[in-house]
Amino acid sequence: MTGSSAVIRTRSWTVLLLGMLTAASPAAFAADCPGHPDALGTSRTLVVDPREHPRIGTMQYRETLPLKDHEVVLTFDDGPLPKYSNQVLEILASECIKATFFTIGSQAKANPEGVRKLVAAGHTVGTHSMTHPLTMNRMPIDKAEAEINGGIEWTSAAMTDPSKLAPVFRIPGLMRADGVEDYLISRGIQVWSADFPADDWRHVSPDRVYQLAIQRLEAKGKGILLLHDIQARTVAALPKIIRELKARGYHIVHVVPATPDRPATPTTPVEWLLHPPTETTPIARWPVVPHFVFTQTATLPAPDLADLNAQTARQPQLLPHKTMAQADIAATLPAPGRDLFAIPEGSVEVLLSTTLSRRAATRLAMAAEAPHAGKGKASRMQARRTPAHAAPAHAAQVKSAAPRPTRLATSVKKRA
Ligand SMILES: [Zn+2]
Repeated sequence: MTGSSAVIRTRSWTVLLLGMLTAASPAAFAADCPGHPDALGTSRTLVVDPREHPRIGTMQYRETLPLKDHEVVLTFDDGPLPKYSNQVLEILASECIKATFFTIGSQAKANPEGVRKLVAAGHTVGTHSMTHPLTMNRMPIDKAEAEINGGIEWTSAAMTDPSKLAPVFRIPGLMRADGVEDYLISRGIQVWSADFPADDWRHVSPDRVYQLAIQRLEAKGKGILLLHDIQARTVAALPKIIRELKARGYHIVHVVPATPDRPATPTTPVEWLLHPPTETTPIARWPVVPHFVFTQTATLPAPDLADLNAQTARQPQLLPHKTMAQADIAATLPAPGRDLFAIPEGSVEVLLSTTLSRRAATRLAMAAEAPHAGKGKASRMQARRTPAHAAPAHAAQVKSAAPRPTRLATSVKKRA
């Protein structure tokens, strides 16, 4: 009797456990996608406290979202633009995928219904400035703040419940600047770069967008994909990208901000690195020992082997006990300069960065996002006419609040 009830109890636990495992699997989620049994689905929701990790995305920063291998976060910039944003929403709905949208204030102003659709579909909505200027890296900070606040104001105004606006921001063209980031962070807003783009703002085919998205994801194994919901080629490429993600065993993660009722998903600091260092890599990255330059080397007495508490003459201890003789030697050593051990500004990022310095990585990211930038006046003019991932005409018509400043060089120099 006791034995059989134990068996039954074990079986019921097994059924319960299997049920829990099935519920957590993407396949079960796809079943919750009515009419789309083959949907990719959203495998999990990641709750993030924007203040704990204020800058993310390895295209520019040291940290990125704490994703597991084969996890992807989809992001869409520059909308809402009904013609294409609605199609993107339909594609995502048919796959039960939740994404993050970075809207432009002028777009939200022109199409508030588009913002409400994003929220109603359960996506995360952050902002991307008021008019999408590609100059936030060199504009006066008060103008940059007006851009940030305009985007927030018009996007939240379009929402039925403004508290739905997520405190996340992506700088247009990824043209980052310390002052801009500092302002955002001071307001508790998380700065999102990305881990890889698919160049869908460039004049390439939808198939090229698909190829780049998959190739770059495969190269990193996981991460934040940067797309745009205002491009026909993105709409055309998206279904194929999603099908390929499923075929290759990738999972979609939905990121939402932490609130008092919704605590952040517990993570460890190392999970915020794209590829956490192994036991051997920190040694490889350890900085070279600085050269000790003493001004009075001639006065340094050579220690006697006896001072090292040698066990034998052949096998001295690696870490000798300090003897009186050594203490005397130490007293005669000239003191090294106070700044000998000072770490130069910026070198922290260099040491912690995977391969490139933060500034170099930023330059690369800028070049990738705005391919015309920094190639002379003519190309800059060209870039201005056809911005990297320009908002459509009505967004461009919104005039900037202030005229082009003439003291750019000075302000940039001061911050550098
Ligand atoms: Zn953009």
